[in-house]
Amino acid sequence: MASWTSIHRGVYSRRIASLHVRFADEDVCIGPPAARESYLNIPRIVAAAEITGADAIHPGYGFLAENAEFSEICERSNITFIGPTPAQIRQMGDKAMARQTMAEVGVPIVAGTDAIADPAEALHAAEGIGFPVLIKAAAGGGGKGMRVAQDSNDFARQFGMARQEAAAAFGDDSVYIEKYLARPRHVEFQVLGDQHGRVIHLGERDCSVQRRHQKLIEEAPSPALSQDLRERMGEAAVRGAAAIDYVGAGTIEFLLDEDGSFYFMEMNTRIQVEHPVTEMATGFDLVKEQIRAAAGLPLSMPDQPISLRGHAIECRINAEDPRRNFAPSPGTITTFHLPGGPGVRVDTHVYAGYRVPPFYDSLLGKLIVHASTREEAIMRMRHSLASFVVEGVHTTIPFLQDVMEHPGFVAGEVDTKFLERMMAERAPTQ
Ligand code: ADP
Repeated sequence: MASWTSIHRGVYSRRIASLHVRFADEDVCIGPPAARESYLNIPRIVAAAEITGADAIHPGYGFLAENAEFSEICERSNITFIGPTPAQIRQMGDKAMARQTMAEVGVPIVAGTDAIADPAEALHAAEGIGFPVLIKAAAGGGGKGMRVAQDSNDFARQFGMARQEAAAAFGDDSVYIEKYLARPRHVEFQVLGDQHGRVIHLGERDCSVQRRHQKLIEEAPSPALSQDLRERMGEAAVRGAAAIDYVGAGTIEFLLDEDGSFYFMEMNTRIQVEHPVTEMATGFDLVKEQIRAAAGLPLSMPDQPISLRGHAIECRINAEDPRRNFAPSPGTITTFHLPGGPGVRVDTHVYAGYRVPPFYDSLLGKLIVHASTREEAIMRMRHSLASFVVEGVHTTIPFLQDVMEHPGFVAGEVDTKFLERMMAERAPTQ
């Protein structure tokens, strides 16, 4: 088995390849399965572009998508990187620095510190902020290198572990400290910028349904925002992105506290997994806008503010076994039946006969529905999950079905601890 770029030359067997490889006109093998020898290997990706004469690279949402060095090398090799400039990626890639940039333009940030290395100094800062605190990797992503310290006794241990995890995951052990909010919502704004100085937002996504700080279900609009709060958060998001003259698609993530205060958390300088909910609720193709922005064209949206229409929900379908603590479930998919009908979209790279490799993220696909109200969108999601048949590997579909039936989710009363509570409620019956 080997790894392929999405420009493909037909010299390898396509029998087990992802769907996009099978559909592509050309494919190029970029190395063995281990990501650092293929998908994270910059010379091999650039060589694949050169071999095929590609003049642009879309980096997707993983691997090198937020890698400033990669964007720089593309620039030097006369290949357009479909994304922001290396400087913009760097400004937001260091989360402690990003907080500073936002604070300078008046975007609220959670009480916290800059990058801090000395344990005694860090403890002192944590006491000043007030426990519990969250220790976060400056280079962080995907919930890694993030540790909660409940009190000063617990602090030294968590601080040490966060640094170790950060070093292991990102090759950089710098961490910073933030006040840990008890029951926040995760509400993020989609922003877009072009090379003509225009920066806009396309409304929000609520991504509060998370397991271990990782998103499972996203929706737009957020059931928690009044129009006034939406406008204030959207304006702050645009101000933040405009502060670095942002070009391309990006996301400004906020924590929304129970009292309605909101705080900048981080900016993702790429398209996100959950971007289809925004596409469904606005009617705009975000990847097309990314390509336009990279080509120097203006954004295609009209001048007036964009509003969200109806309601969209996305469920991430993973090859994991929810009854065995979400253990990865690689293997061959034997049956794969997709749901359909109006307002139903599935983004996937798999099919019956595809072998889910053990090497990568376990995401099999994303099921997105759109309807005129949230209630109808939930019903549409329930029907779609029920007619989504995957056999041969375990999936998170049964778990997602339980969430869609949960009174708390149905009422829109979710925060980032919702799933933890839901799973604790269910634990005795398992
Ligand atoms: P990553 O880049 O690793 O995904 P984020 O900074 O985006 O990290 O945070 C991921 C999740 O962690 C958030 O959606 C939220 O659930 C939780 N989180 C982050 N910061 C805080 C905080 N200060 N208080 C409470 N929860 C937080």
